Amino acid sequence: MMTPVKQAIVVGGGVTGLCAAYYLARDLGRENVTLLEADAVAGGTTRSETVQGYACDCGPNGFLDREPATLEWIDALGLSGELIRANESARRRFIYAGGRLNEIVGPPRFFLSPLLSVKGRLRLMREPFIAGKRDHTGETIWEFAARRIGTEAANTLVGPMVSGVFGGDARVLSLEHCFPRMAAMEREYGGLTRALIGKRLHKKAVSPLGPSGRLTSFREGIARLPGEAAAALGDALQTGERVRRLSMTPEGHYAVETSGGQTHHARAVVVAAPAYAAAECCRELDEAASRALDSIRYAHIAVVCTGYPNAAVHGDITGFGFLIPRQENLRVLGCLWTSSMFPQQAPPGHTLLRTMVGGYTDPEAVGLSDEELLDLVRRELHPIMGIDSEPEFLRIFRWQRGIPQYLLGHGTILREIEAAEARHPGLVFAGNAYRGIGLNDCVLSALRARRLVTGFLGVE
Ligand SMILES: Cc1cc2nc3c(=O)[nH]c(=O)nc-3n(C[C@H](O)[C@H](O)[C@H](O)COP(=O)(O)OP(=O)(O)OC[C@H]3O[C@@H](n4cnc5c(N)ncnc54)[C@H](O)[C@@H]3O)c2cc1C
Repeated sequence: MMTPVKQAIVVGGGVTGLCAAYYLARDLGRENVTLLEADAVAGGTTRSETVQGYACDCGPNGFLDREPATLEWIDALGLSGELIRANESARRRFIYAGGRLNEIVGPPRFFLSPLLSVKGRLRLMREPFIAGKRDHTGETIWEFAARRIGTEAANTLVGPMVSGVFGGDARVLSLEHCFPRMAAMEREYGGLTRALIGKRLHKKAVSPLGPSGRLTSFREGIARLPGEAAAALGDALQTGERVRRLSMTPEGHYAVETSGGQTHHARAVVVAAPAYAAAECCRELDEAASRALDSIRYAHIAVVCTGYPNAAVHGDITGFGFLIPRQENLRVLGCLWTSSMFPQQAPPGHTLLRTMVGGYTDPEAVGLSDEELLDLVRRELHPIMGIDSEPEFLRIFRWQRGIPQYLLGHGTILREIEAAEARHPGLVFAGNAYRGIGLNDCVLSALRARRLVTGFLGVE
């Protein structure tokens, strides 16, 4: 069935597509924009469920409140008054190594921490004297860390951080694309310690202990954000509409075909579906772009939410949670102490934990049965936190191709995709597969799409 030509169609209603469609609807009028989402509910991996009083985030559990664009969008949606910030104690982060939880502390306490051997600590202290990298060849996160702070610190501190953020493997991920600020610190200041000192002198927020900004969410979980954005779009959002093909009409419009057999037409299209789905949609329109999109790898990851009465948890779990270096030979990647950060998200007197299993180095884990995943939690995590009883609450979420991985060579892929955007004016690729995986990055990606589309359409 032929539909009227819209100004813009957005494909994919995760946070990126919702944000892009929200602003485009404001710029162009809601009647001129359509968002096509394959699932029955918009939100993508940003979902939450409240069961038995436990508010479980299925994917992300919040965003860092350091990106003004995210806060502005939330404000525009009328949700600022509902934001909750993680407790101050969430600054306490731990690494499980040597049979115990070790708090990650900054200098000078770090030099006394047993997390690294004396040799490892001495090597780390040499960081300010390590020369910056002179050539411009790509480097993995692990290579960068090993070069600057030594292999032991790279394995024990950096490896777990990378599996915590990306579900990824520091040995294959590109530093430049995953942690561009860290790469820039070395380029601008000659090293990390110098950058920390330099930034502090200029009163810029920076911390060696974790990302700057406070983890922020909503009482009922992060899905409040996509839920409200979807409501604001009204009937501009069409769910259950999986796009299968993009092509050009003889009139120079984009034709967007859905698997239900409908064809929508628009002057501009934002493809905010995951890269592998975008590749499928664009196969006929632009084969080179489709190949580039297809080459973006993903990590599969499972999130196991468990709940307990506080009396069953004997360890001190005040803080953000902990990560486990791969050399500890445990299968679990780490555990977030959700109810310590956000007490509102568990019933009073109860503890909610979120355990991550799988990731790029353990792709099979996402296929484990519920019983097998629960057994991992029992065997590997309960002893670490002194938990002596079965969880009274269990929910498991599995994400096949859940988190994109920016491997070495990601820059070449981005250039291919940008070349396709230049070949097809009005076509924009947005989402977590390109320039950052955090929710803040998704908002920035949506705003880039909005800028390019309104520029193309000649709208202020
Ligand atoms: C387990 C986990 C934990 C995370 N933790 C955090 C965190 O704490 N903080 C943080 O900032 N980030 C976190 N992230 C990352 C963040 O959640 C994602 O990067 C972000 O939600 C991606 O949004 P998106 O809109 O780009 O993509 P998605 O959420 O993947 O949305 C894409 C949408 O496109 C739809 N779609 C697919 N194919 C088609 C098609 N053919 N036609 C139409 N629609 C289609 C999908 O159904 C989906 O709704 C986490 C991710 C995961 C998986």
